[in-house]
Amino acid sequence: MEKARSAIVVAGWVIISLLLLSVLTGRNHRKTSKPIIIVHSKIKKFEQIPLGVPSNKIKTVVTKVLDGDTVEIDGGERVRLIGIDAPEKYEPYFKEARDKLKELVDKKEIVLEKDATDKDSYGRLLRYIWLGNLLVNAEMVRQGWAVSQTYLPNVKYQEQILKASIEATIKKRRLWKPIKDEKCPYVASRLQKPFHYLSCSQASKILEKNREYFKTRKEAIKAGHRPCKFCTP
Ligand SMILES: [Zn+2]
Repeated sequence: MEKARSAIVVAGWVIISLLLLSVLTGRNHRKTSKPIIIVHSKIKKFEQIPLGVPSNKIKTVVTKVLDGDTVEIDGGERVRLIGIDAPEKYEPYFKEARDKLKELVDKKEIVLEKDATDKDSYGRLLRYIWLGNLLVNAEMVRQGWAVSQTYLPNVKYQEQILKASIEATIKKRRLWKPIKDEKCPYVASRLQKPFHYLSCSQASKILEKNREYFKTRKEAIKAGHRPCKFCTP
């Protein structure tokens, strides 16, 4: 009888301790599992909104320079330099700007740095290019071959680029600047069919006395003009 009783008591204790243990470990488990859920949801949030992700840098080689603000890198991907704007192929100083960027980075090992946005609508990587300690984006502006252009929210080095822009203006290095006349952005010659953006190099050849300006494409077409093949307005 004694033995059976003590066996019941021992069994009771064992059950109680097991219960206690499971409650305690269960609580512990909840304590540790809760922050894991928070961390996980934070990661998910950042994956959806790339803003605030620490910028990353990668080393690569420039294989081709396309214009004053676009290059191709090892593997064939295109990179658009952020914070700046250089002449398009139909604009004056296009060749000069492209040649300058070629001189700076072509066939060289560079470091690409990302800001907030990974790619633009053309699928090009939006990046800063570092050549050692030189920020190439700012250097193109400093030498007058590109202008500062803010690509919100990618503004990490905009102050540096603006300083470069001020230097270029003071030292009169700025040869090219984008022409943006919102009131009459199109121009044509009375003697020719094509109409252009004001910034088109073909447009700059039209004599003042022959110039016709248009507020809209529709207006230009109505007047008997067709879009220029180079600037495709
Ligand atoms: Zn044109």
